[in-house]
Amino acid sequence: MTQEELFKKLIAHCKEYGFIFPSSEIYDGLGAVYDYGQNGVELKNNIKSYWWDSMVKLHENIVGLDAAIFMHPRVWEASGHVGAFNDPLIDNKDSKKRYRADVLIEDWLAKQDEKIEKEVEKARKRFKESFNEEQYLATSPRVLEIREKRDAVHSRFAEALNNNDLVELRQIILDCEIVCPISGTRNWTDVRQFNLMFSTQMGSTADGANTVYLRPETAQGIFVNFLNVQKTGRMKLPFGIAQIGKAFRNEIVARQFIFRMREFEQMEMQFFVQPGTEMEWWKRWKETRMAWHRALGFGDDNYRFHDHDKLAHYANAATDIEFNFPFGFKEVEGIHSRTDFDLGRHQEFSGKKIQYFDAERGESYVPYVVETSIGVDRMFLQIMSAAYTEEKLENGEERVVLRIPAQLAPTKVAIMPLVKKDGLPEVARQIIDDLKFDYNVAYDEKDSIGKRYRRQDAVGTPFCVTVDHQTLEDGTVTVRHRDSMQQERVKVEALRSMVDEAVSFRNLFKKMQA
Ligand code: ATP
Repeated sequence: MTQEELFKKLIAHCKEYGFIFPSSEIYDGLGAVYDYGQNGVELKNNIKSYWWDSMVKLHENIVGLDAAIFMHPRVWEASGHVGAFNDPLIDNKDSKKRYRADVLIEDWLAKQDEKIEKEVEKARKRFKESFNEEQYLATSPRVLEIREKRDAVHSRFAEALNNNDLVELRQIILDCEIVCPISGTRNWTDVRQFNLMFSTQMGSTADGANTVYLRPETAQGIFVNFLNVQKTGRMKLPFGIAQIGKAFRNEIVARQFIFRMREFEQMEMQFFVQPGTEMEWWKRWKETRMAWHRALGFGDDNYRFHDHDKLAHYANAATDIEFNFPFGFKEVEGIHSRTDFDLGRHQEFSGKKIQYFDAERGESYVPYVVETSIGVDRMFLQIMSAAYTEEKLENGEERVVLRIPAQLAPTKVAIMPLVKKDGLPEVARQIIDDLKFDYNVAYDEKDSIGKRYRRQDAVGTPFCVTVDHQTLEDGTVTVRHRDSMQQERVKVEALRSMVDEAVSFRNLFKKMQA
């Protein structure tokens, strides 16, 4: 199965099993907007709890916030979003399709890296044991040629982005002979800038309506509340403010399912530090955030850091954590050192002093900020792509199983009476009544046990518990484990601690801190 086929299957699976539906589907959907179904919302809530607890519970000096989506329009002037929150666009005149010029070039660069990898693989096969990768990379004329061309384009690209040189971006596309994937031609328009913010009107026109924006990031709600939280919480530097909330961007090229949406959710933490210490904190947060991802056990090789070619107008250091999606390594999270840009600009635009009095240093200053910013939806896609597995069983049957970490699984336990009689459903209900105060528990009495297992596998339920006639005699049940399919006999009273051990975030947090 190719990665593309796998991704298509994953999207179909998300719909079939109530994880994700296209928005307003009965009206044929709305571009790049999605709804989360009965299982999706549970997984999403669990992702948010994992993040929230790792920030607010694990750190004494991080507190939460829930700011409104609408903000004073001046906020977005101060933040630079009105002037500079743009994507460079290019259209293919034949297919009439629109692309982000930067993404076309990034994809071309990634292709060159793939070409080099292929050369290495070929040589590895040819030279077998005697193959020395380092030496090959340093001497193969073919590799050197590809790399030289790639590096030259890369530096032109970085410079064009930093200078906002749209003509040069187009020239790179032409020079690299990048074609439109639909029409296959190189008939490109000029590159233009496009602002990504959605706007609407607040108040009636007669009152003199104001243009307000749907926030394109949650961070600004934190910045404008910096003093409120610092003063009322008596917070001392360094400290952080964490927030989860919706953000909106009028993405031009919405692709790859929930990877790039027009309405999405962010989990952002702004960490305020003494000026001069920001690089140290930036490095620490990079490690902490990587550990958070890796604790989920999807394989360390599936993550990497990617430093930005173009630093945003506010940043002095920025990196992304990328995950190996079925469509390649792509950004899931950004870790940015935002300097004193945001607080400084709000101070300037609002005319209010936004400073911290440092008692130890005996002076006031505008703190520096290190931000960690992750999309809930991209995290969701990361989990689904890593978890979706098709397996051939020993008896020749196939099963689709979502190997979602138990801590994040939408349903933790499914309770199944073996038959619908002899008092077994009643016992099953009693077990549910006990567990439901703490966990999401499902009840299923339809079809054969095998079919019921498949249904739970497909939504990632880690435990299936079968109540049978023996339960009536000795108070034990059969627990069947999702990943190994192993079964064991367990006392009903032991269920709670078994489930708790598997689904509590405790073990993830311990791994993170190890
Ligand atoms: P990209 O380069 O992919 O457009 P970005 O660098 O603009 O992303 P940030 O502004 O750093 O993204 O936003 C932080 C995080 O928010 C991203 O790492 C991503 O997880 C999430 N995010 C951003 N835009 C979207 C979107 N359109 N749909 C879903 N998630 C998004």
